[in-house]
Amino acid sequence: MKYYSTNKQAAMASLQEAVVKGLASDKGLFMPETIKTLPNEFFENIETLSFQEIAYRVADAFFGEDVPADTLKEIVYDTLSFDTPLVPVAGNIYSLELFHGPTLAFKDVGGRFMARLLGYFIRKEGLKNVNVLVATSGDTGSAVANGFLGVEGIHVYVLYPKGKVSEIQEKQFTTLGQNITSLEIDGTFDDCQALVKSAFMDEELNKHLLLTSANSINVARFLPQAFYYFYAYAQLKKLGKADKMVISVPSGNFGNITAGLFGKQMGLPISRFIAANNKNDIFYQYLQTGKYNPRPSIATIANAMDVGDPSNFARVLDLYGHSHSAISAEITGTTYSDEQIRETLQSVYQETHYLLDPHGACGYRALKEGLKDGEVGVFLETAHPAKFLETVEGIIHDKVTIPVKLQEFMKGEKKSLEMSKDFADFKSYLLSL
Ligand SMILES: *Cc1c(COP(=O)(O)O)cnc(C)c1O
Repeated sequence: MKYYSTNKQAAMASLQEAVVKGLASDKGLFMPETIKTLPNEFFENIETLSFQEIAYRVADAFFGEDVPADTLKEIVYDTLSFDTPLVPVAGNIYSLELFHGPTLAFKDVGGRFMARLLGYFIRKEGLKNVNVLVATSGDTGSAVANGFLGVEGIHVYVLYPKGKVSEIQEKQFTTLGQNITSLEIDGTFDDCQALVKSAFMDEELNKHLLLTSANSINVARFLPQAFYYFYAYAQLKKLGKADKMVISVPSGNFGNITAGLFGKQMGLPISRFIAANNKNDIFYQYLQTGKYNPRPSIATIANAMDVGDPSNFARVLDLYGHSHSAISAEITGTTYSDEQIRETLQSVYQETHYLLDPHGACGYRALKEGLKDGEVGVFLETAHPAKFLETVEGIIHDKVTIPVKLQEFMKGEKKSLEMSKDFADFKSYLLSL
């Protein structure tokens, strides 16, 4: 499979090039040249297959031309060592719980898959050490670090803003050791991201080191997120309720929802999508006006969605030939204030005892308000509520049980390297490696 750039100014790339580079040389995002449709027979029997079997069929459509079948199967089965169950919440609304992986958030799927695929290319090509740089405001760093932990030939550098991530989040990447190094930057998340961007642009650095990124611009991280949309359909079909399935996705950088849009193009019968935003409603405004106006992000209690210029928007445009009407026919949007998120989380807990996290609360509310007669809604519950402990406990006035996996991280010893936000310092550190 060849990959083109959404900016159409760069040469086509192989899967390996797309994964190792992350971003195309014209700064566009890589897109697979064709999106294969899966046969009817697959959808007819999908409810009889396991999550791993379903995911392998989807992975084969994406990567089967470039990765040997037994290797791909191993990568898929290793990535999905946990379940993503569909849980009824209220009426015709179901939660697809994507938080049963190592760091209790959906990014575990893409993080682990990318690590294993990159590891395969490194072994196959005998590449020199690959350095993954990742800037994080909390969730991405932990998923990427845990996904890459112990993968030979790869070293991960997590850059995070000193004092601006929660203790639980910080422990999930600073306690790992091995091939994971945490850099505690005296600055904001934007400063961390700027350092990573400058490193990718710096010629001298790129001559010395093989650098890549592991956020959702990377095809190896974002495409595997399609797996669980198929599995959600399979689970709903088993209940006899999959005829008019609506999917609601709490969205920030739009990698997760874009993977679902790919699923639909592969033949997955999804009626329509809802992109649930917090107050960072750039996509919502685009749907209303046809104009895309990125702006600086604002802080909310659903902070993994605090994105002012969603990086995967270019992929959504490309998928629908830049047609605003085609995009609006497939996706509607919603936007919620912190107050509305709190209210939703609180009332759902009170009425049903289901505990949402602040991101899932946006997804749930969009269905509660927007589901039509005959439709069945699934929202992606993107993280475990215990990851946002103080916020959630403050809303429900009750204790949240912390899963054992999180407790284990809390016991570890934090190790990080403090650094200024000056690029010169970061660069000389990387050059000294
Ligand atoms: C990353 C994240 C999101 C947003 O996903 P995108 O793919 O960036 O749209 C939503 N919820 C949680 C908990 C996240 O960590």
